[in-house]
Amino acid sequence: MLKGIPVSSGVAISEALLLENNTVSAEKKNITQEDIATEQHKLEVGMTKTEEQLVELHQQLLDSVGEEQASIMSAHLVLLKDPAFIDEINNLIKNELIDVSSAVQVAANQFVQIFESMDDEYMRERATDIKDIANRLIANILGKNNQTSIDIEGSFILVSDDLTPSETVTLPRERVKAIVVAKGGKTSHAAILARSLGIPAIMGVGEPLTNAIQTGDSLIIDGSTGEIFINPHPEQISKYQKKIQSEQEEKAQLAKLKDTKAVTRDGKEVELVANVKGPQDAEEVLEQGGEGIGLFRSEFLFMDRNALPTEEEQYEAYSQVVKKLSNKPVIIRTLDIGGDKHLPYLDLPEEMNPFLGWRAIRISLSRPELFQTQLRALLRASAHGKVRIMFPMISHLEQIQEVKKILEATKEQLKAENIDFDPNIEIGVMIEIPSACLLADELAEEVDFFSIGTNDLVQYTLAVDRMNEHISDLYDHFHPAVLRLIKMVIDASHRHNIWTGMCGEMAGDLHATEILLGLGLDEFSVSPTLLPRVKHQLLQLSTEKAKQVADKALSLGTPKEVLDHAIASNPVS
Ligand code: PEP
Ligand code: MG
Repeated sequence: MLKGIPVSSGVAISEALLLENNTVSAEKKNITQEDIATEQHKLEVGMTKTEEQLVELHQQLLDSVGEEQASIMSAHLVLLKDPAFIDEINNLIKNELIDVSSAVQVAANQFVQIFESMDDEYMRERATDIKDIANRLIANILGKNNQTSIDIEGSFILVSDDLTPSETVTLPRERVKAIVVAKGGKTSHAAILARSLGIPAIMGVGEPLTNAIQTGDSLIIDGSTGEIFINPHPEQISKYQKKIQSEQEEKAQLAKLKDTKAVTRDGKEVELVANVKGPQDAEEVLEQGGEGIGLFRSEFLFMDRNALPTEEEQYEAYSQVVKKLSNKPVIIRTLDIGGDKHLPYLDLPEEMNPFLGWRAIRISLSRPELFQTQLRALLRASAHGKVRIMFPMISHLEQIQEVKKILEATKEQLKAENIDFDPNIEIGVMIEIPSACLLADELAEEVDFFSIGTNDLVQYTLAVDRMNEHISDLYDHFHPAVLRLIKMVIDASHRHNIWTGMCGEMAGDLHATEILLGLGLDEFSVSPTLLPRVKHQLLQLSTEKAKQVADKALSLGTPKEVLDHAIASNPVS
């Protein structure tokens, strides 16, 4: 048995296919001064061919899986045309007198090294994209084929050392039962693609993978646990066949709840909405029966590009989601960059404690032009539906007061320009810092709603870095201190006649549903795929009993006692 990082859930049983390394090698040759122009011309021809292929792949992806996946190819195009990359290749040809294919290889290796040495996991994984582009470019310069060859009949589980986005998108979707890769993690593009294609996947298994498995081996893959069983016993196979069957049955059962409202047994209506990162997720929210969007993480629109998105680009993205959701509410959070989310082109300084640093609203307030561009786009999108704006990382009362002044000034600007927007647009703050919980009464006077961000609230309340695996056992949303803060926030909001939602991961934890309902939470915002399960859970609960469970939880001393109590009261099937 091998274990890796589970990146896309689901069980698969099938034959292994080891993906051969399709890297095309450069043809190492020394050249003379007279050859320089010819080699540089070959580069131009190779670039044009590569560009054409990427544009074609982009279109194929747009037609088959959607915009998010297609954008991987646009990102490749940007990397391909990066002047620093092209200049380096030309310099190598001219100064080192090496042929163009070797120059591409050397330049790509330099860029790969830079990306691989970066601290940020996301940036490290971009090294695979550069290898992919260089491989394609060298193949085109040398007139060779770099397409992945799949010579196996029927369906299979793909096993590979590394998997580039181009390889992932050219796989025969109907025949790939699962993907297992030695390198990579949750944010590698192959993982993103596997998730959106609904293919179970495990990544980051490590070196032993391709030594331990051979083409034709029988495999079981559990994409929820990261387990890989090689040539399993018949009993294991039948155990996992049952798991596949029950997964399918559960999914079919839950799908029937799509149009059912999330109402408790004693009639309390709960707003069940979803967290998204862009227009590409909107359809999924509706398919899973979401009643709206509780958190649109707008910073994802700012990633995977070289410059800030313009007002027009942002307006397009926000309105696309708003229109898709018809009149359902869409809460869009303003830029939450910093912490573990970087924007290289913003050129922010390195910090000792990035999560306590220049992050989210702190950046927006110190860069008014950037903030106002986003507010203009958000207000303009509000003309098309029910937009609410939410501000992240509010720790001080004066921050929201300042935000409101800027918002009012932006509304005045639009009015003067005769541009439509919703003048009564609702605004809210994320409650994710203990100071905001303690100031909830004052904050409630300023806004229309609260949304509790437990991902950050837990780390700031317990002083446990959410990214640090050495102390991850201390990071726990069932800590009574966290529960007591949540209660304080919900009670304050109700005293001031506003509502409180939750968009942190705790909202999707089925063991937490009853306690949160009992604490009086009005809205749950969860990942779209979790919507049916959370709804199913809410349908079983009653608010009276939930209140008693919550009261008892508040009186307990440790996270374990709280969790045990939650499970004893309502075991999650
Ligand atoms: C949170 O902190 O709970 C939250 C939803 O925001 P993010 O995870 O984007 O920081
Ligand atoms: Mg947060």
